[in-house]
Amino acid sequence: MKVMKFGGTSVGSVNSILNLKSIVEKAAENENVIVVVSALGGITDKLIKTSQLAVNGDKAFNKEFQEIVARHHDLINATITCDKRRSALLEEVDMLLNELDNIYQGLALINNMTPKSEATIVSYGERISSRIVTALIDGAVRFNARNFIKTEFKHSKYILASDETEKLIHARFDSRDDRIIVVPGFIAQDKESEEITNLGRGGSDYTAAIIAATLNADCLEIWTDVDGFMTADPRVINNAYTIRHLSYVEATELCNFGAKVVYPPTIYPVFKANIPIRIKNTFNPDGEGTVIDAHSEDEGRLIKGISSINDTDLLTVQ
Ligand code: ADP
Ligand code: ASP
Ligand code: MG
Repeated sequence: MKVMKFGGTSVGSVNSILNLKSIVEKAAENENVIVVVSALGGITDKLIKTSQLAVNGDKAFNKEFQEIVARHHDLINATITCDKRRSALLEEVDMLLNELDNIYQGLALINNMTPKSEATIVSYGERISSRIVTALIDGAVRFNARNFIKTEFKHSKYILASDETEKLIHARFDSRDDRIIVVPGFIAQDKESEEITNLGRGGSDYTAAIIAATLNADCLEIWTDVDGFMTADPRVINNAYTIRHLSYVEATELCNFGAKVVYPPTIYPVFKANIPIRIKNTFNPDGEGTVIDAHSEDEGRLIKGISSINDTDLLTVQ
């Protein structure tokens, strides 16, 4: 069994989501797969922007919200060809979008946003995208991540409640033998209050790693919009090239210092379980990509890669 995570860049457009469908269906011919998905590319940012407009009483939030609705409707109408399946999906998605609209209207009335309402608002991205992906893939079943990805509030923030999460993942998955299971990434639930929480921005990678490590998957695949882990961010350095192999330690260092291709907490659970990570390109599935595992390869190069963090000041206090 393997876990395949598709980021916002891979579920953002008609073209990319159809690639996702064929990649997953092909993989499922050989083994069971668990597919973890992010929100449609750019939607999490838009959900937050819309809430900020609503809280500030700026009526433009209505237009932003309509754009969120249109993005999802357009994608569904262009990709789900079976009429029955499409109308059932639209009904389900519209119910969620209606709830979201009510939350925005409420924010505009009370002009106040709490961390709890923000976490609820951003959760709609993955709650909707996972339904679209499930409807798109024949025979796929959807699991609700909030039933098994649990957080606890510690040192003023939500962190993974590992023991509960592991137990609940086993309880949910061990007795199942489904060919394709779809799980929304990023979102979680507080283990005590049962409020909606999340694993932090970029956290779908982490959801996938937690599931892969707990179920001892053969491999964790991170599908994104570039040809693997590269020597630098290709959006910044245009002649960056793919690094074929990295050790967990090398990848952790690059990610901790800004290589956004993998969310930093992702590596530790799979490192502990000794599960290889493959970084692959949804737009070039035959490309080799990058393998991250326990080995360290000496390629005769002094520097493996360069990463950077923007808008950061470094202070040395003596
Ligand atoms: P996803 O939506 O698939 O999670 P992200 O935007 O989070 O995608 O991560 C992919 C992006 O990470 C790439 O488009 C690239 O611009 C950026 N990136 C930064 N550093 C690197 C790197 N060293 N190698 C590859 N991509 C990188
Ligand atoms: N949708 C979330 C975000 O944009 C999680 C993710 O994409 O991994 O941060
Ligand atoms: Mg990401």
